[in-house]
Amino acid sequence: MRSRLVRFFTTLSRPAPFSFRPVHRPRALLLKSMPTIPFLSALLGTSTSSSSSSANARNKMTTYPEERTPEEWRAVLTPEQFRILRLKGTEPPHSGELNRHYPSSGTYRCAGCDAPLYRAEHKFSSGCGWPAYFDCIPGAVARHEDRSHGMVRTEIVCANCGGHLGHVFKGEGFPTPTDERHCVNSVSLRFSEEEGETEKKGEAEGGNKA
Ligand SMILES: [Zn+2]
Repeated sequence: MRSRLVRFFTTLSRPAPFSFRPVHRPRALLLKSMPTIPFLSALLGTSTSSSSSSANARNKMTTYPEERTPEEWRAVLTPEQFRILRLKGTEPPHSGELNRHYPSSGTYRCAGCDAPLYRAEHKFSSGCGWPAYFDCIPGAVARHEDRSHGMVRTEIVCANCGGHLGHVFKGEGFPTPTDERHCVNSVSLRFSEEEGETEKKGEAEGGNKA
């Protein structure tokens, strides 16, 4: 009886010094200091998506055939690809390796999920500093209203994985069949010389002329 009591007191007194341990949570501090955290939480926030109401209000939880977690995307993308494709970043103008790239044939694919998005013949020289396409492979690119930065623009994303491509502009007067300009980040794309694979994605159909 007495020995049990003693043990009780020693166990009671023991935790005291431990409770005074210095608090260091580098993880939490690191996260707090990261400027991208609103975007990350928006990406991660399936349950707390209502918390960010202003700038990211329109981050509706659109679902795509190829869904991956941010961590899964980080594992397969370069930091720059992740910044642009998953955090809707923009590469500096005239910096992309596909900006002045005009092959006679081939396919531009999503750098994230490899879905074919544009054909070589869709590309034209707009002089804007980013790869420009007047059309896309049918159904390959989805559009969303983008009200960020005090503007109303139309964001374009890969319809398969939701990866951010850029924006589309209409009525600028370019002598193309559509008078639309898909202004796409080079980083979001990967060029493939193969042409035939463009039809392998589900609902793509024969008529590809705009
Ligand atoms: Zn994709």
